[in-house]
Amino acid sequence: MNQQLTLALSKGRIFEETLPLLEAAGIMVTENPETSRKLILPTNDKDVRVIIVRASDVPTYVQYGAADFGVAGKDVLIEHGGEGLYQPIDLRIAKCRMSVAVSAGFDYASAVRQGARLRVATKYVQTAREHFAAKGVHVDLIKLYGSMELAPLVGLSDAIVDLVSTGSTLKANNLVEVEHIMDISSRLVVNRAALKLKRERLQPILEAFERASKRKE
Ligand code: ATP
Ligand code: MG
Repeated sequence: MNQQLTLALSKGRIFEETLPLLEAAGIMVTENPETSRKLILPTNDKDVRVIIVRASDVPTYVQYGAADFGVAGKDVLIEHGGEGLYQPIDLRIAKCRMSVAVSAGFDYASAVRQGARLRVATKYVQTAREHFAAKGVHVDLIKLYGSMELAPLVGLSDAIVDLVSTGSTLKANNLVEVEHIMDISSRLVVNRAALKLKRERLQPILEAFERASKRKE
C-alpha cells in the first residue's frame, strides 16, 4: 500500500499559518513557495509532499484525491459545497469575518426596510444568496473574482459581500460594514477514500494538527 501523502495548500496566509501545525506533526517544508517556482514542494519526510494551488481550488484537489488533505477557508468550503470532503478540524487559522459593506453614503437599513431590490457584488455567491434569502431581502448577485471594494465606488453594485479582518481596506475605500454574516477560519479537509486507505499515516498528523490548533484558544 502506497502511503505517500499529498497536502494541498495555497500560498500566503494559509501556507504561513499551516507551517507551525505541520511542525507540530514533525513535518518541515524544505522550500519556500514565495521564492520557488515549484508547485510541488518536498518536506523533510520523503513520504509527504505539499502542492501549491489557488485557495479556491484546494477543495477540488482533495475531493478528487489528487491531494489527500488540504487546508481551506470556510468561505471557500461553502462555495465548493464540501462534496467528497471530510472536515474534521477547525484549525483556527486565517481568521476573519464575512460581511456586507456599502458606500458610506448609502442608507442600507432604509433600503432594506423599503424592500428595495439590491445589487450585490461578491465572490461568495452561495453564501450571499443564502444570507439575503434568509433575511427576505431581494438581491441581484453579481459574481466577481476579486477587488470587490471597487464595485460600489463605480456604481456596479449597491453592496458587496466580502471578507473583512481589520476593516482597513473598507475604510480606505470609504465603505462601511453594515452586516456581519459569519466568522471565518480555515479547516482541514481530508479526502474520504484517503481517510480510510491511508489512515495509519494520516491519523498522527490529524492528531498533531488538532492539538496544535486547540492551543490557539
Ligand atoms: P486568490 O488570491 O487565489 O484569489 P484568496 O484571495 O482567497 O485567493 P488568500 O487571500 O490567501 O486567497 O485567502 C485565503 C483564505 O484566507 C480565504 O479563503 C479566507 O478564508 C482567509 N482570508 C482571506 N482574507 C483574510 C484576511 N484579511 N484575514 C484573515 N484571513 C483571510
Ligand atoms: Mg486574498
